[in-house]
Formats: sequence, structure tokens, C-alpha cells
Amino acid sequence: MMGEQSFHEQIEINADSQNQNANSARQYIARLRFQFLVPVAVTLTFAVAAIISTVYFHEYHTIDNDIIQLQSTTNGLYQDSIQQNAKALQAIMDVLKTDQELAAGLAKQDHQKLLRRSAPIYEDINRHYGITHFYFSTPDRINLLRVHKPEKYGDTITRQTTLTAKLSGIDAYGIELGPLGTLTLRYVQPWYEENTQELLGFVELGMEVDQAFNSIRNLFGIDIFVLIKKHYLDQDGWEDGMRTFGRTPDWEYYPQLVVSMHGMQLLPEVLSKHIREMDFSQHTSTLKIKLGPNQHAIFQPLQDVTGRSVGTMVMILDTTSLAKQARESVTVGSIAVIISAIILILFFYWLVGRIGIRMARNELQLQQMAVRDGLTGLFNRRQFNLMLDDLMTQHTRYDRPVSLLMIDIDHFKNVNDTYGHLVGDTVIVELGKRLTRQARATDYAFRYGGEEFVLLLPETDSASAFFLAQRLCESIAEKPWVLNNNTQIVVTVSIGIASCPNHACTSQALVETADKALYKAKERGRNRVYNYEDIVTETDKPNPRV
Ligand code: GH3
Ligand code: MG
Ligand code: MG
Repeated sequence: MMGEQSFHEQIEINADSQNQNANSARQYIARLRFQFLVPVAVTLTFAVAAIISTVYFHEYHTIDNDIIQLQSTTNGLYQDSIQQNAKALQAIMDVLKTDQELAAGLAKQDHQKLLRRSAPIYEDINRHYGITHFYFSTPDRINLLRVHKPEKYGDTITRQTTLTAKLSGIDAYGIELGPLGTLTLRYVQPWYEENTQELLGFVELGMEVDQAFNSIRNLFGIDIFVLIKKHYLDQDGWEDGMRTFGRTPDWEYYPQLVVSMHGMQLLPEVLSKHIREMDFSQHTSTLKIKLGPNQHAIFQPLQDVTGRSVGTMVMILDTTSLAKQARESVTVGSIAVIISAIILILFFYWLVGRIGIRMARNELQLQQMAVRDGLTGLFNRRQFNLMLDDLMTQHTRYDRPVSLLMIDIDHFKNVNDTYGHLVGDTVIVELGKRLTRQARATDYAFRYGGEEFVLLLPETDSASAFFLAQRLCESIAEKPWVLNNNTQIVVTVSIGIASCPNHACTSQALVETADKALYKAKERGRNRVYNYEDIVTETDKPNPRV
């Protein structure tokens, strides 16, 4: 019942309580993780959602920007192309002007002579430069020859470019709307007699602007349609013209416009519907219409030389590949953000676990410090009071005996004085160990005060307690303490015993009674055990060390 076993049992008790501590530490860490990670996860979820939607809106905004960019680029390209073509016409015109025969033919207003000389030139410039119109007119704007259509002449040219050239006396050019709804770039130059500077007439070159539209179509891979306002056309003239070209005219197909130039495909029905419903009378600035999830139509107003908005260029943009790119960016971005968030949460999970372990360990240490004595590692006095109360409560409930041994080192001052306080401390620690070792598994050892100890013996009556105390007292006195310098110190203890229910029935009374018994043991010479009964009967027990 005594010796090594009790010591191991004590360790098992400690191991048990350590298991409990480990469990509660795990719960504590789980709670800490929950309390910390839930708000972190919620915040991260919001952050991830915010980042993803920002990426999403940025990407789709980029598509919109691309559309706007394309819109202004195509418009710029169209205007540039007109300017470049006008310069080309001017250059050709300047060469033509040096031809004496043409000048003479114009001066004489000789239809045949002009035709003979200009026909091969027209053939050449038509083939090489896409020039489709070549006119000679008198100073009164009466047409002398249409080289591209020689049978028709003698009418008066009333187009704005010719009027401007006549009025200003210098070159004029610009976009003119033809009766078939075609837009032609016209360049008109007044020719003068070299010496007299007399006006000989007007020479005009023209080319279709379709080329400009074609280059936009080819460069950007977008389909283009040109529609002209009916308001500026004559229905009969247009229908006749269409028939001449072998097309079936449908004047009524749209309320306000007719198609002047078709795209690579037919106008999508959804776009046709818009064209039918839109009001083009005020159409002077760019309009953008969404036709489908990835299809947009841009309406770019077309002006003629007089500044009238005579029609519209409709571009159909397909943003499928842009949207695909955007989707990919959003997907890749989202995955990256989500992975980062998961890594962050895992990191916090790990970090909180580590912090939790450290905090649990600290808490355990604090708990230990609250119940254990720092020097000996035995339970402290505070714990003694609690446990004694506990035992006394149990005793009254089950009517079981409890004994208390109050142990005090004899003449301890001398130990301190002779060997110093450090040796005194070693003796206190060593005595604590001996008590633990010799006590039973069910007993509890406490450091009560400086060099005072208490053993609480549940289920032990005063006779058994006396037996145990005496063995303790003897074994301590028998085994001297060996110091580092091989000095041997003999230390003895005095023990006072009090038992419940024999001597006292409350915690306080039990302590006081044991104290009295201890006092008696000291008084009677120390190194001895006194039982409370012995004080009462004044019968000394024999001194074990006598
Ligand atoms: P007695 O036989 O009457 O008990 O004599 P004693 O010298 O032991 O007297 P007492 O119990 O009154 O003195 C206790 C001494 O123990 C006083 C104090 O200096 C010393 N002491 C108390 N706590 C410690 C401690 O933690 N370490 C050391 N080294 N000495 C202590
Ligand atoms: Mg003392
Ligand atoms: Mg003492």
C-alpha cells in the first residue's frame, strides 16, 4: 500500500488530469478557430466577391471601351480615306491639266475631240485608280462629255462641287449623293486659257466611296452596310436605276432609308427591326445598339459636301472573341483570388492552432501555478483547504474516517543557519519527494507553509494514521541528507495527527487539533508523532528515535 507504487499512482493521476487538459485544450483551440476564422472567412468571401466583380466589370467595361475605340477609329479611317482619295484625284487632275489636246478640246467645246483624247486616259485611270466619273463641262456648267458615259451630254451640272468651283474659281471636292443612293467623291477643277486666263470650263473626276468602306471591312473584319435617307432621293429615279443594275427595288422595305451598299451578309433581322423603328431624321451623331449578347450595331452618320446627313454607315461588331477573352480573364482572376483566399484561411487555421496551443499551455501553467507549490511541486495550501472541505463533506455524507498529518521539520532554522538557505530549500524539496513516495495512492501531500507539510489520508482512522506517521517519522530520521560536499545532514520531523470523526468533525477543527498535537510533539522533544487523543490522556507515545 506504500512506497514506489503510490508514487506511480500519483503520476497516473497527473496523467489523467493531463488528458483532461489536452481535451479541453483541443476544445479551446476549436472554439478559437471558429471565433477567429468565421469572421475572417466572411470578410474574405466579401473581398473575393468584390475583387471578382471588379475584374468582371473591368473586363466588360474594356469591351465597351474597345467598341468606342473602334467606332472612332473607323470614322477616322473613313475621313482619312476620303482625304487621301481627294489628293489622288487632285494629282491626276494636275497631270490631265498639262494635256494640251484636252485643253484645246475643252476650249473648242468639241465633244468628239475630247472623247477621242480622253477615252484611253479614262480607261487607264479607271483601271488603276478606280475612277468612275470623268466630265468636261462648259463655263456655264453645260456638260460637254461624260467620258464614262459619252452618250449622255448637253445637260447642266447642278452638283454642289461644280457650283462651288464656279463660284470660287478654284478646285472643289466633296462627297455627293447620286440618284441611286451611291456616294461619290467628286473633284472639280476649273481650267483656264494659259495666256488670257479665260475660263475654258470644268473638268471633274469622281470615285465611289465604297472603297473606303471596303478597307474598314477588311481591316477590322466587321460588316458594313450603307443606308441612304429616302428624303434625299427620287423614288422613280432610284427604282429605275436599281432595275438597270438588275436589282429588284423595294422602296418601302424601310420607312426612312434604302440600302445603298450591302454587307457581306444580309442585314440581320434584329437590326432590320431597329432600322424600321428608329427615327433617322435627327441622326447626326453616332448611335450604338446592342443586337444580342455579343453583337452590336454602330450607326455612323454620313454627310455629303453640303453638310447634310444623307445616310448612315451601319457597322456590325461581333464581340464574341472579346467576351471569350473577358470570360477567361474573369475565370483565371477568380480562381487566383479564390486560391489566395483558401491559402489565407488555411494559414490562419494553422496560425490560430499554434496560438491556441501556446495559450492553452499558458493557461495550464497558470492553473498549475494556482494549485501547486512552486518549490516542491506539491499541492499548495489553497488547494489543501479546498480538498479538505471536499473530504469533510464526503465524510459527513458517507460516514467515512479522514485523518490529517501535520508535519514540521525540527530545528529547521539551524539547517538554514548552518548550511545556508539553498541547502534548506533542497531539504524542503527532498522531504516533499519522500512524503509523496511514502504516501498511498489515495493520500494527498501538501506544502502547508515554510517547512510544514500536510498529508490528507481519506478512509483512514487515527490508529492507521498513527502507524503511517510513525513509519514516516522513523524513515526520515534514519536516512540522512547527503550534500554535494558529502556532508550528511540528519533532519527529523515532528508529526501531529488529528482524525475525523474521533477528534474533530469540521475542517477548521481538524487543522487546529492536528496543530495542537504537533505542538505537543515539539514540546515533548521533537522527532516524534503525537495523536490528539494522547494530548487528552497526556500519555506520551514512545519516542521512536530515543
Ligand atoms: P522547530 O523545531 O520549533 O520547528 O524549529 P524551527 O527552527 O524549525 O522553527 P520554525 O518552524 O519556527 O522555523 C521555520 C524556519 O524555516 C524559519 C524560516 O527561516 C525557515 N523557512 C521557512 N520557509 C523556508 C524556505 O522555503 N526555505 C528555507 N531555506 N527556509 C525556510
Ligand atoms: Mg514551522
Ligand atoms: Mg520547524
